[in-house]
Formats: sequence, C-alpha cells, structure tokens
Amino acid sequence: MSASTADHLLCVERISKRFYGLVALEDVSFEVRGGELVGLIGPNGSGKTTLFNCVTGYLRPERGRIVYRGKEITSLPPHRIALEGIGRTFQAARVFPRLTVMEHMLAARQEFQGDGVVSRLVRGPAARRSEAEAAERARHLLEDVGLAGMASQPGAHLSYGQRKLLALAMALMTDPALLLLDEPVAGVTPVLVERLVELIRELHRTGRTVVLIEHNMRVVMELCERVVVLDYGRKIAEGPPHAVRSDPRVVEAYFGR
Ligand code: ADP
Ligand code: MG
Repeated sequence: MSASTADHLLCVERISKRFYGLVALEDVSFEVRGGELVGLIGPNGSGKTTLFNCVTGYLRPERGRIVYRGKEITSLPPHRIALEGIGRTFQAARVFPRLTVMEHMLAARQEFQGDGVVSRLVRGPAARRSEAEAAERARHLLEDVGLAGMASQPGAHLSYGQRKLLALAMALMTDPALLLLDEPVAGVTPVLVERLVELIRELHRTGRTVVLIEHNMRVVMELCERVVVLDYGRKIAEGPPHAVRSDPRVVEAYFGR
C-alpha cells in the first residue's frame, strides 16, 4: 500500500472515460479522506455523474485506477462495490410506481444480491433474522428522513422531493462509510432543500464521508470543506469552496461562455 492510499479513504487515479470518442473524463485524479465532505461541481456535461458511475462500478473507465481503503476496486461490479462500503444516490430519483416505500427500502439491501436461487429458497433462521433487522433499520431510516408515515404508500404517490428523501434513505440501508450523492437537492422546494442539507450535515457529523455533486452553490458553500471542479471531463480546480469560487478558471467555466 502506498503512502497516499493509506492516508485516503478513496483515491481516484488518472481516470479516463470516453463515449464513442467523446471525452467524458480525461485523466481525473482526486482523493477523499475519511470523514471529509467534498463537493464535486462543474457545468452540465462536465463528467460528474460519469465519475460517480466509474467509482461505483456502473461504468468501466478505459484508463486509471480507483482505490478504496487501500484496495483496488476498479471495474468491480456495482453490488461488490456497495458491499465494500460505498453507497450512492442517482441524479434522477426514480421510483418503482407500484412498490411501497418500505419495499424500496428492503430492495436497497445488498446482502442477498448475487445469491443463487437455492439459497434464496432455503432461507434459514439467520436469513429471517437479518430480514427482521433490515425492516427495523428501514423504519428507523424512514423516520430520520421524515417518510415514516408513507412506508406503505406506493412509489407513485411520492412527490419529487419525497423521492429524493427516499433515495437518500435507500442509500443508507447498506450503512455505507462513503456516500456519493448525485444532486440530492436539485429540483426540490426550498423547505425540502433545508431538510436535505440538515440530513447531509448530520450524516457527515456522525462520521460518514460524503462526496456531493450539487449545482446549488449556496448548498455547496455551506456544506463542503473542499471542492473539486470538473470542466469538459478534466479537473480544473480543487480547494476550499471560497477559493474555488473565485478561481478564474472556475468563473470562466461557469460564466464565460
Ligand atoms: P454531468 O453529470 O457533469 O452533467 P455526465 O457525466 O452526465 O455530466 O456527462 C458527461 C458527458 O458524457 C456528457 O457529454 C454526456 O452527454 C456524456 N455521457 C454521459 N453518459 C453517457 C452515456 N451513457 N452514453 C453516451 N454519452 C454519455
Ligand atoms: Mg450529472
């Protein structure tokens, strides 16, 4: 293990990703220390979501390595990466219209993913106990995000903001040490923005490491200790939020065209 990987929870090392020749990420590196709350910002199409997809195994980078807790996880399948302790939310907070909120929560459990048919059929007492624990955890998390009263409602009944809250609660079902949040407050009402900001702050305060993609600059400034900026797939700046905001390259990327 090199010194740099020992110090950091997550190391993204020189990642590149193209789509049919179009450069989505080019030689991007950054590190996240345990306990940090890092912002990942950049104009639309700058590669932020692609970076999350590479880290969580949904996409395979053409070049570069991703190291988590000193172990290379590049190109492991998503459920394996989730088991390592990395959780995420998706930019479009989609729900299954007919599954209940509680069923969404239980489906977000990773423990049984990858199991064979046989082990699913012959569940013993241990599996049943673990299911009861999952339901208990789900109830607690739904309470934390303010959705306890909707546990038996179908997904179709949730407002957009409630879907964002559910997505956050679902991501916490696996108790991830590192949480990657893709625009968790985008498109929700101001009241809900405040609630989500408080929830994220609380997750950070209680020891979780968070990387946050967010367009709402006030939220980024308020929450993040450090910000990484992408533009056209390249990292153009990195540092404390206020320094980054006045960085000429960042100003140019956001307002100069
Ligand atoms: P951001 O999240 O910063 O808005 P994305 O990572 O979604 O940016 O996209 C980066 C670039 O890659 C964009 O040009 C986008 O159109 C392209 N892209 C993203 N995903 C795909 C895909 N699955 N297939 C083809 N092009 C994609
Ligand atoms: Mg995106």
